[in-house]
Order: sequence, then C-alpha cells, then structure tokens
Amino acid sequence: MIKDVNLTKALKQYFGFDHFKGDQETIIRNLLAGNDTFVLMPTGGGKSLCYQLPSLLMEGTAIVISPLIALMKNQVDVMNGMSEDGCVAHYLNSSLNKAAILQVMEDVRSGKTKLLYVAPESLNKEENVEFLRTIKISFYAVDEAHCISEWGHDFRPEYRNIRPTILKIGNAPVIALTATATDKVRCDIKKNLGINDAREFKSSFNRPNLYYEVRPKTAEVDRNIIMFIRQHAGKSGIIYCLSRKKVEELAAILQANDIKAAPYHAGLDSATRSQTQDDFLMERIDVIVATIAFGMGIDKPDVRFVIHYDIPKSLEGYYQETGRAGRDGGEGLCVTFYSNKDLQKLEKFMEGKPIAEQDIGRQLLLETAAYAESSVCRRKMLLHYFGEEYTEENCHNCDNCLHPKTKREAQNALLITLKAVLAVKENFRTDYVINFIKGRPTDELVSHKHNELEEFGLGEDEDDKLWTPVIHQALIAGYLKKDVENYGLLKVTPAGRRFIKSPQSFMIVEDKEFDNGFDDESRDSSSSTLDPELYAMLKQLRKDVADKHHVPPYVIFQDPSLEQMAVMFPVNLEELQNIPGVGIGKAKRYGEPFCQLIKKHCEDNHIERPEELRVRTVAKKSMNKVKIIQSIDRQIPLDDIAGTENLDFNELLDEIEAIVYSGTKLNIDYFLEEVMDEDHIDDIYEYFRTSDTDNLRVAAQQLGSEYPEEEIRLVRIKFLSEMAN
Ligand code: ADP
Ligand code: MG
Ligand code: ZN
Repeated sequence: MIKDVNLTKALKQYFGFDHFKGDQETIIRNLLAGNDTFVLMPTGGGKSLCYQLPSLLMEGTAIVISPLIALMKNQVDVMNGMSEDGCVAHYLNSSLNKAAILQVMEDVRSGKTKLLYVAPESLNKEENVEFLRTIKISFYAVDEAHCISEWGHDFRPEYRNIRPTILKIGNAPVIALTATATDKVRCDIKKNLGINDAREFKSSFNRPNLYYEVRPKTAEVDRNIIMFIRQHAGKSGIIYCLSRKKVEELAAILQANDIKAAPYHAGLDSATRSQTQDDFLMERIDVIVATIAFGMGIDKPDVRFVIHYDIPKSLEGYYQETGRAGRDGGEGLCVTFYSNKDLQKLEKFMEGKPIAEQDIGRQLLLETAAYAESSVCRRKMLLHYFGEEYTEENCHNCDNCLHPKTKREAQNALLITLKAVLAVKENFRTDYVINFIKGRPTDELVSHKHNELEEFGLGEDEDDKLWTPVIHQALIAGYLKKDVENYGLLKVTPAGRRFIKSPQSFMIVEDKEFDNGFDDESRDSSSSTLDPELYAMLKQLRKDVADKHHVPPYVIFQDPSLEQMAVMFPVNLEELQNIPGVGIGKAKRYGEPFCQLIKKHCEDNHIERPEELRVRTVAKKSMNKVKIIQSIDRQIPLDDIAGTENLDFNELLDEIEAIVYSGTKLNIDYFLEEVMDEDHIDDIYEYFRTSDTDNLRVAAQQLGSEYPEEEIRLVRIKFLSEMAN
C-alpha cells in the first residue's frame, strides 16, 4: 500500500515543494519498504525531509534522535507549522518539565504525533524506554550519526547506547543520516547501529561554489582578517576560533574597527546567544566570531565567508564549518589561518587526556596539517578524505589551483615508500614509515628490529621534506591506503603493487612552508601596499637610532613593525601603538623621530593616509599580562606563574615576549639565576649583543645544541628588556 503512494504529491501537499532533491525519493522509498537506510548528504542537502515525509505516511510514530536541543525545537516548530493541530511533532529532552512531558506522551499515545524528537540521553532513560515500549514505532532516525564515532568531529558517548536501547524498546527500521563521514566513521556508524546491511545513499560532497584557501598565520593575522572583512563589507561571515578567550578578544578588535561583529560561545548565557543568532540572521550584525558551538542549527543561506582563525581539530569539522558558507550556491570563501605553532599547542592541550583519545586526536590533527601544508588541490584532498574521487585536473576555485606549483618527478621516492610499507608488514603509520625510510633508528623501530632490514634507510639521501607529500599524494592517487579498522596503518593497494612491478611516472607537488608567525621572514602578501621608499628610510633611521644606543636594530623595532609603519603611516604616538610589536613604552622611548619621518614623508609626497587601513587594537581584556608583570615584580618563579595563569611554560614565554617586545621592562634575573648556569646566561647574552637578528632558529643553530630553546628565549627576554626598554 505504502509503496504505491504518490510521493511527489505528498511532498507538495505537506511541504509545498515540487521536486525531490538529489536522492530523497529513493531514500524515502527504501525506508517505506522497511529497510535500514544510510544517508550521506552534505549540509543543506535536505536530509531532514528523508525522515519527516515518511513519518507522516507511515503508521505509528517515528523516533528522531538528534544531538542538539535547539535544533530539535526548530524542526518541531517547522513541522507543526505545516499541520493544523500543532502536535504532529514533539520533542522529549531535559528542557521539558513534568507537565509538558505528560502532554507529549498523551499526544503520542493518541496517535496524533508522527515524529518524536529525542535527545540520546533522554532516549536511554528508563522511564522513557518504558513508555516507548507501549507505542507503535514506525522507524528510528539517527540524525548527525557521525556523533557515534570517536573518529568523527563531534563524538557523543550517549550515541553508543542507541542500538541497545532500540533493542529494549522494540525493533523497527533505522535510518542514519550525516553530513560528514570518512570511511572509518562510516564503518563505525554501521557497526554501532547494527545496520551493516543498510543501503547506502551517498551524494557528492563537492561544493563547487566554495573557495578554499590556507594562509600562513603571522603576527598580523588580526589585521589580515580586518582587511578581508573590509574587502567584503556588508557581507555575512563566520570566524571560528578554538578558545572562548580568543573569540572575545577578536570580536572586540573587530568592533573597535567598526565592524558589526559579535562573539558567540557556549560560555555566554542563552539569551545573549539567541539574540546574537537572531541579529546575525536579521543582518543587524555581519560577522560572528565563534567557537564551534555556533552554526549547527543555523540555516543562513547567504553566509559569504567562513574564516578559521585557528587550525581546525579535524578535517571533518573543517568541512562541516566551511560548509556553512554559500548554502544558496553563491559565493562562499573559506579561509584558514595556519601555523605549525598552533599545531604544537593543540597537541600539548591533549596531553592530559587518556592515551587512546590523545592518539585519535593527534591523528585527526595530522590529517588537517597535511591538508593545510599540501600544494594539492584542496577540493581533491577534502573529497578524498571523504572517500570520493575528484578527477578534474584543476578546480579553479582553491588557492592551490589558482597558483599551481610546478610538479616534480617522484617515481623513485614512491617506489622506496611502497617497498618500505611492505617491509614493515603494512603495520605502521606515516611517521613510523618516514623514520624507517630515513634510516632513523628510533626506539620503536629498534624494538621491532626494523633497523636490521635491507630497506631501512633507503631514502636517507633524499630531502626530509619529500616524504610527507609523497605519502599523502600516494594516498590520494590510490597507491596507498589507510586501514579502516586500525586507523592510520599504511597499506599498499593493488595499484601500489602493480607500481612496484612496473614503475611509472609519479608527479608530485612539494608541500608549503608554514612556520611560526613572528620569527618568520615570509610576510603575507597584503604588504604589497607597503611604501618601499618610506620603508628604506625607516630602516635607515632605525639603524641610526640603534647605533646611538649601541644596540642591534631589531631591539628598537622589529622588521614587521617597520613594514607596518610603511603601510599604515602612523604620524603620532597614539597611532604608532596600533602597529604590531609597538607598545606604549616603545612608542614613548623611540617613537617620536619615526612619527616625524613618516609625517614629513606623507606631506612631501602628498600621500593620503589610508584611513581605512588604520586598524585599531583594543586593550586586551586578558588580565594575564598585568598579572604576569606584577608576579614578576614580586619575583615569583616563572613556572609558578604559568601554573596560576593556566598557561604552559612556552605560552607564558610568548606572553612575556609580547610584553617585552612592546616596550615594558621586566627583570627576570631572579629566575634565570635559579634555573640556569651562569656561563650559559653570559654566552647567550653575548650572542644576542653581537648578532643582527633575534631569530630563535638562527640563535639555536649558532649556539649549538647544548643551549636549549627555552634558555635562549629566557635570556633573549633579559637582553631585550635591558637593551631596548
Ligand atoms: P540537511 O539536514 O541535509 O543539512 P535540511 O534538511 O536542513 O538539510 O534541508 C536544507 C534546506 O533544504 C531546508 O531549508 C529544506 O527546507 C530545503 N529542502 C529540503 N528538501 C527540499 C526539496 N525537495 N525542495 C526544496 N527544498 C528542499
Ligand atoms: Mg540536518
Ligand atoms: Zn583546486
């Protein structure tokens, strides 16, 4: 009976749509026929309808398991808006009081309710199980099904109990839906829900209108973002940051620069949050700065850009978040700021977690890093990650395709790699295989006696940086694959085995370099607006001032600061403080002649100072800096300060460096004397006195390995504090 139903007519009748989108109709028919069903469809593809429509047509009530309360309410409102008596859909979750729950139960029992949305923790509750046992269930829909897997971007342990609970309540067909799933996650979902035979409907995950770009994250990232937003003035955008603190800071900076922006994170009260969401939807604000808490429920079709301020924790999360841009098929710019430093920070963060969790988190992070650093088409990489092959040579809509790198032959490197993977019995991951190829006898390698194999060190003559892109691109090309059960173990595919027998050309592109911002020579491209004549004059002035004070030039102002002066033309001390790396102390001590020079240069050359380029900074809300300064004055050991400020030691050093670089004097001798050898202090100090760069890597190279980086940083702080401030 159900099979013959005219679905198009029902679609029109209930939802007012004329046609099904994509596979919707076949999916619905499969479910109506009583089969388990697995739907992989990108965000905005129309997954909800795949269970909403059949629920209206089938006998009984459909149970929809969905992780977010806000999302449920929204969908329930939509469904009830379409019907007359307003109880076609209900939800059961922790937000309801006793009376409301009784009402819901009554409507369900009377058969009026066709769709019951349940949060997984509510589903698992004993009293709800008891109740659900008594009613007729048409099917179970598990929305956002990737939440089942630790390998997804949004693992929810309660999702693991869904199958056992279904068994208690009573069997019925299951439809699982998700917008992102790698092979690993897909496999986890099926296994966990016990729907191994489910028919799978997979739409393409390609979003041709989305433009993907990864930029190096330098000290200028805030300014980059402000410029970007100004270039897209009046358009809606979302900026994702990993921490609440950063969200608040960045939102404040944007506001100070007359951008209609607001922060959004789970620490804000719910009234503020829903106000912000509303303001965004109604376009009273243009930009939301958010943690990943934002966006799951939001359906704004014309978000024009999504910026990742920090590296996303997984590519699945990245895909999901960037997916919120350009849902209407129009422009959607996805820009990510990436530095190795962030990667290390995130890895450090995970150190407190259980080993298994750390391991998963680390591997997901490595996937993101590989994506960011690669010069391969971003679309190709993303789609490959989701098990889809993208065969176009050039997508014309990602940074790597718009600025392609020249390829190089890597036939021999691939051959070495494949042999290495086989030699270690296809039982190890990328980093292990690279150590093996490079001939590095790590403890782990030695414990497996792999250093005794003939293939050990086959690639030791090649550049270190070759191997990651070779392996990454061999995965994309299908010569290697990652094991799904034991995620990450490299396996050679049949194509890989054929390659070993008869090697062919294998062209690859090398990875990009992404080093930490502040030390880095490579500045971003927006410095093309830099006034070269002024820059040269500023450099000369800096040299004169440095000579006068008998210090190296960088002690006065660092290069990036000078560059910014030549872009932004600050003409008084107040404006000068808006230049990165210039604080009030430095501005007062050295600023005057610089401002005068800039002013004169502007007048002489009739330069209109680019008002819109002047980026205002805000007094950082973080009390960190003040507290750090006070604590150092009180001679509290730095490791204790790090402890009370909840920073790891390197982060504390970052903060202290920022303080010192912008011109505040700090005396950390009490700490140095306690933790460091006096000779070391002197040697490093002397090095900086005579060196013409403060670059850490150069210092580490020059000084040699007996001077740990931490020591170099500590003494550099002492030096800068004494010489510059
Ligand atoms: P998903 O859950 O896959 O992200 P939704 O179910 O929220 O997507 O649907 C996205 C949008 O597409 C909604 O606004 C929905 O009303 C619309 N939609 C779904 N199916 C159709 C259809 N057949 N025709 C027109 N619009 C549709
Ligand atoms: Mg959905
Ligand atoms: Zn591309």
